[in-house]
Amino acid sequence: MAEQNYNHWRNLVDNEHLRAECFAPKEKRVLTIKEIKQEKITSANGETELKPVAHFVENVLPMVLNVTNCKMIEKIYGTGNIYEWIGKKIQVFATKTKVAKEMVPCLRIEDVIPQSNEVQYLCSVCGKPIPKTTYDQSIAKYGKPYCSKQCLDEDTKGEQIL
Ligand SMILES: [Zn+2]
Repeated sequence: MAEQNYNHWRNLVDNEHLRAECFAPKEKRVLTIKEIKQEKITSANGETELKPVAHFVENVLPMVLNVTNCKMIEKIYGTGNIYEWIGKKIQVFATKTKVAKEMVPCLRIEDVIPQSNEVQYLCSVCGKPIPKTTYDQSIAKYGKPYCSKQCLDEDTKGEQIL
């Protein structure tokens, strides 16, 4: 099979985000969420929209999350809080979906928590792994995981935390 040399011509057009064409047929990748950011995305028809974009710990392009994929992460991890998605693993694969009568390639997230890898708990500021107890306490107190007072202060500069 030619999987090792797989590349799609579309990758040479838009190489800013992870796309279905980045995946070889039947390839699945377990990716660890480092951060979810809101970004301006230009669609094929030239319109710009604000979309959630997942950045990963692994060395791959960030992935634009549509509603279907956001709902899947919320379903498998039981929370819609994007800060609790940090450090969680998702299994991504390419498939096709119907858009206006046409089947187009898309990325989807498997309806399962990847078993092969343990969930990591990461600081939302510096990305350092932190113990689960620290993570849980920080989420309970601040709604975001911080590894230290320093990262908390860094993130809340100028804001009042009570
Ligand atoms: Zn930190």
